[in-house]
Amino acid sequence: MKFGYHEDCLAHTTGYRHPESADRLRAIRQALAKKHGVEYVAADPATDEMVRAVHTDAYVESITEFCEEGGGDWDSDTVAVEATWDAALAAAGQSVWAAERALAGDDGRQTPFALGRPPGHHAVADDAMGFCFINNAAVAARHVIDEGDADRVAIFDWDVHHGNGIHDIFYDEDDVFYVSTHEDGLYPGSGDVDEIGEGDGEGYTMNVPFPAGCGDAEYLAAIDECIAPALTAFDPDLLLVSAGFDAHRHDPISRMRVSTEGYGALTRRLRELVDEMGAGLGFILEGGYGLDTLSESIATVHETFDGREPVEDDGSPTDETTELLAEVRSIHGLD
Ligand SMILES: [Zn+2]
Repeated sequence: MKFGYHEDCLAHTTGYRHPESADRLRAIRQALAKKHGVEYVAADPATDEMVRAVHTDAYVESITEFCEEGGGDWDSDTVAVEATWDAALAAAGQSVWAAERALAGDDGRQTPFALGRPPGHHAVADDAMGFCFINNAAVAARHVIDEGDADRVAIFDWDVHHGNGIHDIFYDEDDVFYVSTHEDGLYPGSGDVDEIGEGDGEGYTMNVPFPAGCGDAEYLAAIDECIAPALTAFDPDLLLVSAGFDAHRHDPISRMRVSTEGYGALTRRLRELVDEMGAGLGFILEGGYGLDTLSESIATVHETFDGREPVEDDGSPTDETTELLAEVRSIHGLD
């Protein structure tokens, strides 16, 4: 794969014992150093205009001033230093790069993966939250649509948390289809099955709030039974994956059970899906807080594009999840 990576993303420091640290990127690069076919690209940071196409002027002004004055605790878990805004611009820029490259036809071994931090999917139009300052995936989707490079963009967010920011930003729009799988009841608490969008956006948001304990079989079933049919009907030009790895069975902050190999199996399914839809595919890093599981899972995603066939779990989803997926299908008229 080609990885978008910018040194500025390391300078956002979050203090002792904060799970979202620069060590995440260092661990990922260390794991990828042992792999064949890894290429790095340092794309330009996002411009002010790209950011303001998603975030309000008042928010951009107050957060940039907050960082210029040295930062501090924006909220109880969202911490900034002076370098945070430049790190956030660099992360958003790598995401825009990933979307543009995917739309330009980079696929297979050239598939782009934006390795930025701070992550983005919790950032709403007018606020930072949940370790996130600029909504990287939203900036990327908005930019390629505004530039006329894409008519429709799908975002599949497999991070264990609901990406409330992406959800809210596109909730009343029909040109971005947002799908989230997340652990029910975890931060930030949003993302119920019946939140499906409103106005022009009705039907263009899909939430799959899994019960704790779901793993590879449940995630694969969600793709096959709900996500693939909905996105096929949507017919996007581009699928962006908001790729957090905190649903891993050994991640310290969730109770989900996705395996390292499972991320390879999910990747293969999405690759088959975009091939069928004729869409581009790009990845954007979100969460993932176990340094080993994060870096090994990303290495597995990479290897899936480098000719390695992931071994798939042949288990079946639990009855509870089967019922949930039937409800999602029914609400979205997929039966
Ligand atoms: Zn997360």
